[in-house]
Amino acid sequence: MSKGTLYIVSAPSGAGKSSLINALLETNPIYDMKVSVSHTTRGMRPGEEHGVHYNFVSVEEFQELVEQGAFLEHAEVFGNYYGTSRPWIEQQLNKGIDVFLDIDWQGARQIRKQMPQAKSLFILPPSKEELERRLNARGQDSDAVIARRMEEARSEISHYNEYDYVIVNDDFDVALMDFKAIIRAERLKQDKQAAKYNSMLNALLAEQ
Ligand code: 5GP
Repeated sequence: MSKGTLYIVSAPSGAGKSSLINALLETNPIYDMKVSVSHTTRGMRPGEEHGVHYNFVSVEEFQELVEQGAFLEHAEVFGNYYGTSRPWIEQQLNKGIDVFLDIDWQGARQIRKQMPQAKSLFILPPSKEELERRLNARGQDSDAVIARRMEEARSEISHYNEYDYVIVNDDFDVALMDFKAIIRAERLKQDKQAAKYNSMLNALLAEQ
């Protein structure tokens, strides 16, 4: 069996990253894909659950985890700390499971250094106007918060050219198809296929 692939997925808030990852996992019947649950020091938003959306921890707990080397990467994103758990990811990849990391460009850089075989995807909104419309449609934030999120989005988008793949999320179904196409193509790479079809290849190559 070959190892799973690590996918780094970044996008500005409002580009539809979580919806795309959730839709991808929902349509995957064989549970060979998982999304990593990060640790964060930010407060819980309405509808979020501890252990599902994030592991919510205090700054002190987060710093302790950093000192223990528990994170594969960690970064401060817009005033809060976020980190990706190292042992869980290694376990999943060793089991042949593909893992998705919903992390920012700083985390993506750290992961690429340590795991150059990881694949990275950036999700773009089709326009500034549409991004703003989507942020407003959530109905959670004041105008000042939306203006800040738009500025944060611009900063995140400025790193799109560090990624292997770029998906434009204009029509959601098309974006999901693009996302699936990337994963499918990765799974068809020669080394992955050679590991999966080892005995078939041996039989095909056996002399008469
Ligand atoms: P939010 O607080 O809106 O859920 O996420 C804010 C930003 O933090 C997003 O860009 C998200 O991708 C990023 N983020 C979430 N978890 C991690 C993590 O473990 N590491 C890094 N570097 N960024 C993260």
